[in-house]
Amino acid sequence: MTNIEQLADQYGLFLCVECGKCVAVCPMGEIYTHVSYEISPRGIIERILLDPEIPEDDCLWFCLTCNLCTSFCPAGVRFRDFVEVARQWMIKTGITQFGSFCDSCGTYLYPRHTLEYMKQILGENTEELLRLCPRCRRYKIGGKVKTLLPGGQKVSTQQVQMGGDQ
Ligand code: SF4
Ligand code: SF4
Repeated sequence: MTNIEQLADQYGLFLCVECGKCVAVCPMGEIYTHVSYEISPRGIIERILLDPEIPEDDCLWFCLTCNLCTSFCPAGVRFRDFVEVARQWMIKTGITQFGSFCDSCGTYLYPRHTLEYMKQILGENTEELLRLCPRCRRYKIGGKVKTLLPGGQKVSTQQVQMGGDQ
């Protein structure tokens, strides 16, 4: 049994009864312009059961990991959990081109497709912060705030507390 077959077994892909409910509830069609059967949960399950290899394309990197498919699946297939573990496994084996990683510490953040979507929603000028993990983002914002307070100037927390009591 290959590793992908073990994952398929662990997350119940073999239980799929091809009812299509996961495709009907999946929100990917509202997010991406070109959603095909090949990137739908049912399409990916069918492909992996027929050819249990790591997909070399980006079919596993569109899923938004919302878990709706699992919630509605009558057969108990845990597709979202499968995708998350399969992505980590792909990254470990060197397939990193479909992921976005923190520019500062290198932690995996989300798929590149998701980054592109967030940039469209939030604006291009947010990319610098979107390309940082939450921890590195806090340091970055903290550093920027510091530069806005010249000459060692400090904010009075007493004033803030008094304002909150009023
Ligand atoms: S909802 Fe479950 S059983 Fe139905 S096609 Fe999707 S994964 Fe298969
Ligand atoms: S977890 Fe992924 S495949 Fe499942 S409904 Fe959400 S976006 Fe679609």
